[in-house]
Amino acid sequence: MTVRQKIAIALGSAVLTLVVGVTALLVVLRLRVAIAAVDHTNMVLRQIDGVLAGMVDAETGQRGYIITGDSAYLEPYHNGRLEANAHLAVLRGLVASDTQQLGRVDSLQALSDRKLRELDQTVALRSTSASAAADRVRTGVGKAIMDSARRIAARISLVERRNLAERDQARLRIRNLALGVIVVGTFGAFLFAFLINRSIRTDVIAQQRSQDQLEKQTEQLEQQAIELEQAMEQLRETTTQEEEAREAAEVANRAKNDFLAVMSHELRTPLNAIVGYAELLHDGIAGPVNETQREQLDRVQMSARHLVELVDDILSFSRIESGQDAIRQGPVEVRQVTREAGALVEPVAAAKGLRFTVQAPNEPETFTSDAGKVRQVLVNLLSNAIKFTDDGEIILASRVEDGRVVFEVSDTGIGIAPEHQEQVFDTFWQVDQTATRKAGGAGLGLSVSRRLARALGGDLSVESAIGKGSRFRFWLPR
Ligand code: ADP
Repeated sequence: MTVRQKIAIALGSAVLTLVVGVTALLVVLRLRVAIAAVDHTNMVLRQIDGVLAGMVDAETGQRGYIITGDSAYLEPYHNGRLEANAHLAVLRGLVASDTQQLGRVDSLQALSDRKLRELDQTVALRSTSASAAADRVRTGVGKAIMDSARRIAARISLVERRNLAERDQARLRIRNLALGVIVVGTFGAFLFAFLINRSIRTDVIAQQRSQDQLEKQTEQLEQQAIELEQAMEQLRETTTQEEEAREAAEVANRAKNDFLAVMSHELRTPLNAIVGYAELLHDGIAGPVNETQREQLDRVQMSARHLVELVDDILSFSRIESGQDAIRQGPVEVRQVTREAGALVEPVAAAKGLRFTVQAPNEPETFTSDAGKVRQVLVNLLSNAIKFTDDGEIILASRVEDGRVVFEVSDTGIGIAPEHQEQVFDTFWQVDQTATRKAGGAGLGLSVSRRLARALGGDLSVESAIGKGSRFRFWLPR
């Protein structure tokens, strides 16, 4: 039920109660008027009886006096006269508002006066002649007047009774109407009150329920707030511990990188010296060497070069890790950088008997990047391709597409299993982790290459199939 409907019902109930109250009041007032009317009619009837009785008393006294001549009969005669007149005066007052009834009372008054005059005359006649007075009585004039008076009195009574009956009927009609209004009104008001009561009860119950729910939710919220506070406290503690651990790890990492950088640098110089001196010895510049010595010097050079490569990888890695590897942006020409990288590894591919193809754009295409690092990534990828391919072909291709410069290094080598294709980019991770593996390396080349590609705003990914070969895709923004 809407609030508007509830207000309407409450108003209806109030209006009905008011109607019932007003109707009851009207009925009470009406009843009082009706009772007064009955009283009034009774009073009129009593006065009429009084007038007639007075006249009869006066007549009886007159008769007694005429027959006996005893003046004691004159007392009821006089009293009767007085009584009739007194009642007539009251009667006149009672019917004063009804002109027709007043006219009838006037007629009664006149008849009463005539009767009393006639009595007076006979009483006066008796004092002189008893027979004359008796004769006068016998004429029947007095009786005729009395009969007329009775008729008029009956008429007044009749009219008064009829008025009373009419008033009674009107009163009954009003009473019935009022009873109807009171019954229907009371029932209606009760119904409305009942409806409101029910609706209020429902509201109160619903309100109570929602209050209970609210209290429950408040409790839950308070509990959650406490738990949250505890969790935050724990988090603060954990964060502090984590920060401490991270700081410690960063310190350790910095120490490791510093160590790697220093060691690599320190190793590189003597290793280069070893390569240089081995070459001098090999070429017989320091004196003649025989064939066996030359072969051994070849191995020394190869091993030393391999070590230099390893040290270079470690140096690059430690530089990137420590953030020392600053990027030097400048114009890079796609074809040129492709060819330079190809030229660096071509002899190695040729030495392994592999076909080596370089595909570069025909037109010069320039983009902004760090040429040295682009070359470094390409050489890394090409070195791997040669390292992991025993026969077949290595292709280095570069092109410009969709606002990117794309380099692809494809080989027909051993390939990489799908489950290892993401791991190969992890630091120090190699597919063959045994100490007896054929290919050398530290497991850093791809990790360093991907970091460099991302540092230059591009990325490095691989597609490969075991036994068929691999294709590394290295792209940079143009
Ligand atoms: P490294 O070559 O020094 O071992 P990389 O990070 O360059 O380290 O390569 C990680 C590993 O990924 C290699 O050990 C090898 O197992 C695999 N891999 C890299 N390039 C190729 C390739 N072209 N073909 C097959 N496997 C490759």
